[in-house]
Amino acid sequence: PQRPYIVGNWKMHGTRAMLSEARAIDRAAQRHMKVEVAIAPPYTLIHPVHREAEQIAVGAQDCHHEEGGAHTGDISAAMIADAGGKFVILGHSERRQNHSETNAQVKAKADAALAAGLRVILCCGESEETRDAGRAVSFVKKQLKASLPDFSDAPESVVERLTVAYEPVWAIGTGKTANIEDIAEMHAEIRKLLVSVYGEENGAEIRILYGGSVKPENASEILSTPEVGGALVGGASLTADSFMGIALAA
Ligand code: 13P
Repeated sequence: PQRPYIVGNWKMHGTRAMLSEARAIDRAAQRHMKVEVAIAPPYTLIHPVHREAEQIAVGAQDCHHEEGGAHTGDISAAMIADAGGKFVILGHSERRQNHSETNAQVKAKADAALAAGLRVILCCGESEETRDAGRAVSFVKKQLKASLPDFSDAPESVVERLTVAYEPVWAIGTGKTANIEDIAEMHAEIRKLLVSVYGEENGAEIRILYGGSVKPENASEILSTPEVGGALVGGASLTADSFMGIALAA
């Protein structure tokens, strides 16, 4: 089995003043090698963090699906790799909402990221309305299935290169977390889907992270839930203290 994977999504936070925090996270990660730690700062900090970090991987929060071209303001997967990025978070609900990203676009980005040698953290999750209507599981399975890359070129590398993150939209930045039974149910359903798409062996090993108001105080309960292979952390990843508090709970 793989190590627990604790990933910080800094979102639109961080200038060079935050590099000291990245260094502190890196130093702490060197002392806790049983956990795999990574951060996704804004694009502008990928290379600076890459230069500082000895242990943790640095990645991006999005990429364009094409290799290059007339796309003002966009960044390709190859550019992220060139800057030292090792992975990219794709399909985050804030991208799906604020930039109207569709499942098909997320899948195209995932294919492009893999082709550029990046690992992918693919996000899924339902809105509060969908959960209240009792449709959370069917919604997430459909969303995820339509967003997953197909790995036709190198199916043997899927476990190493794909991670799924379940983030209920209503739990992001709200201080509300899904209850443990609901997390366990959703992760079990996602596991079944991964097995059906990638086969028994690979599908069983792909890590599934939980995200949404993960804090040092609730991390150990969440991280010990069946099929939870780590956490995707927003707000609490912005200081080394709280972020590594979560990593230590894994
Ligand atoms: P918070 O941890 O701030 O709720 O954010 C979760 C998230 O969206 C990580 O991608």
